[in-house]
This record gives sequence, C-alpha cells and structure tokens, in this order.
Amino acid sequence: MYEITVDLDRCDGIFACLVRDGRFEEADDGLVTLPDGDRADGELTATFDDDRREAAEQAAAACPVDAIAVTDAGDGSAAADATTEGEP
Ligand code: SF4
Repeated sequence: MYEITVDLDRCDGIFACLVRDGRFEEADDGLVTLPDGDRADGELTATFDDDRREAAEQAAAACPVDAIAVTDAGDGSAAADATTEGEP
C-alpha cells in the first residue's frame, strides 16, 4: 500500500506526470488530480494498493517542480489515525 501526495502549491500544470502514470489527470482548475484523490489545504492525497507504485514513482521523478511524493501507507495505523486536538 502506498500513498501519492501532490503539493498543489508547487504543481504548475505541466503534466509531465500524465505521461508516466495515466492515473494523473487534469482537474477543472488546471492542476493535477487523481482518482479517489483527496484535495485539502493545497495538497492532493490518494492511497493505492496495487502494483503500479513504480509508475507513480516515475511520475514523481518526471515532475519538474518535484511536487509529487510517493510514500508507504498502511504500515502502522497510528500515523493515519492520529487526531490532533488542542492546538498550541
Ligand atoms: S508534472 Fe508536476 S507540476 Fe506537472 S502537473 Fe504533474 S504534478 Fe503538476
């Protein structure tokens, strides 16, 4: 299981990523999106459990502004489950 994260503040709509991984698509606002992706606070996040992580990593490597990150997901639910209440 892995997670793809895109920093939408950095994303410039260059779409080099589309060529490497067909899951990346252009959204209505001209920036990138992913199927079942979650957009919040300028960040697009989507979790996948398939054998296409390599394609995602190639997309990340192709992005000229280095907006895409591919990380492990699902080992250790603590981080994903963390609820932060009580701000400083
Ligand atoms: S290659 Fe990078 S900058 Fe271009 S659309 Fe994809 S994520 Fe955005």
